[in-house]
Amino acid sequence: MAEHSSRQRLEASRGPQPFSTLSGNAIESAAHRAYRDYLDHATDCEICAHTSIHCEAADALWRVYRGLRR
Ligand SMILES: [Zn+2]
Repeated sequence: MAEHSSRQRLEASRGPQPFSTLSGNAIESAAHRAYRDYLDHATDCEICAHTSIHCEAADALWRVYRGLRR
């Protein structure tokens, strides 16, 4: 019985993605904004602006963008 309810909880947590309720346009503009955040960061950041290395913050911003672009 306990096994059954924990399986149900697992399926519920796998439910709809947070962005699936947004319209295509909302995702598009969110992705656009995320990309601009990424570019803005790259110009201002000590690491990203002066080296070819991307810091963790840039990586996080890029992942947000890629997540919206799927
Ligand atoms: Zn950076």
